[in-house]
Amino acid sequence: MDFQLTERQTELVESAGEHYQRTLKPLAEDHSQDGVMRLRRKMAEAGLLGLNMPEEHGGAGLPLLDTLLVIQKLQSLSSIVGGLAHRSSTGAIGAILELGTSEQKSFFIGGVCRGEFGVSIGITEPEAGSAATAMKTFARRDGNGEVVLQGKKQFVSFVDHNHYTLTYCRFGSTGRPADIGAVIVPHTAPGFSHSRGGTNMADERLFELFFDECRVPAENVLLDGNAFGRLISVYNAERLGSIARMLGSAQASFELAVAYAQERKQFGRELADFQGLQWMLADMKVKLEAAQLLTYRAASNAGHGLPSRSEVSIAKVFTAQAAREICDDAIQIHGANGYMKEFPLSQRYAEVRGGSIYGGTIQIHKNMIAGDLLGRSNNQWKRSDNRS
Ligand SMILES: Cc1cc2nc3c(=O)[nH]c(=O)nc-3n(C[C@H](O)[C@H](O)[C@H](O)COP(=O)(O)OP(=O)(O)OC[C@H]3O[C@@H](n4cnc5c(N)ncnc54)[C@H](O)[C@@H]3O)c2cc1C
Repeated sequence: MDFQLTERQTELVESAGEHYQRTLKPLAEDHSQDGVMRLRRKMAEAGLLGLNMPEEHGGAGLPLLDTLLVIQKLQSLSSIVGGLAHRSSTGAIGAILELGTSEQKSFFIGGVCRGEFGVSIGITEPEAGSAATAMKTFARRDGNGEVVLQGKKQFVSFVDHNHYTLTYCRFGSTGRPADIGAVIVPHTAPGFSHSRGGTNMADERLFELFFDECRVPAENVLLDGNAFGRLISVYNAERLGSIARMLGSAQASFELAVAYAQERKQFGRELADFQGLQWMLADMKVKLEAAQLLTYRAASNAGHGLPSRSEVSIAKVFTAQAAREICDDAIQIHGANGYMKEFPLSQRYAEVRGGSIYGGTIQIHKNMIAGDLLGRSNNQWKRSDNRS
């Protein structure tokens, strides 16, 4: 085991930070649709999209660990930049890389890496949150080279800035996971619409998607059933990308707290002189490093492949809690300043708070960890309604 970053990894992270300061920072304030497209294109020019996507499709070809290091760094500087790096690397696009046809890979991965468009991921439905396999959105092939979708998704991120949604849906009616496949739905498809979006604590919009006899070319079918297990295996890389974003937000909060403790004076002394606050800073450092090690282990063991489900769940459970505590302590160290919206800390807290909910809640990840350690399937379905 080697716990040191290589010279190349350190350079990668530094170079991402320099790119941000030099070219991305002025664009990152503009969250309009045009603004995000400009940012995307600039990130593409800098090689900061499609970090782990193969070079033949326009990506940077990095292993998963290096990808996460760059996502973490960019997230520590700007959540929108970190989000774009994540979504274009470990997001829905990962499923297309692992499971798509060569035409799908070339078109979708190429377009995402060039900053031409983005792909959201639609899994959650009103009656299918943690119980994702209860989804009802249904797809049928119409025999004329199209697939027709009927149903509804909710809480889907970034739909206003993206151009496609990788939509999980059922191709059969047994009610079992074996029915589940996925279709890449263009947001211009007839019968597709979305809500104006609700705003979450971190000021991001989450959208409802409506599929009303929505017609999509059959070549956009990623998998037409028997795919839930494979989709979720790929989704573990997406989970690691969002864990790296939590690390970035926690790292930024920690660095602000360290600086503030050495600037702010009370009782004629720096806050950093008080042992009660020194111990808080020490605890924050311990949590950040432990969360990083668990996350980097999962990524490092994956290499260029897919991470272990169990290692991802362990990293997720620990990081979601550690990041929340680090951001909360950073607010405390800043006193009333930390609680003000004008300071970035409430935003950072809100960013990491969502991490206990999206990508599988921490309770669901604990169910999976316990299932693995006890050697049980840990099926959560009520016995009379078993859909496993
Ligand atoms: C910021 C953010 C972004 C998101 N982006 C997307 C997206 O892009 N695409 C998408 O498809 N979805 C997205 N989601 C939705 C997310 O995946 C769901 O919120 C999540 O799966 C939980 O579902 P739910 O909200 O319906 O909660 P529920 O499933 O209703 O759970 C409610 C509570 O019950 C607990 N619970 C449920 N079942 C069990 C059990 N068996 N054991 C123990 N506890 C249990 C949960 O842990 C939770 O605390 C996003 C959510 C957030 C917060």
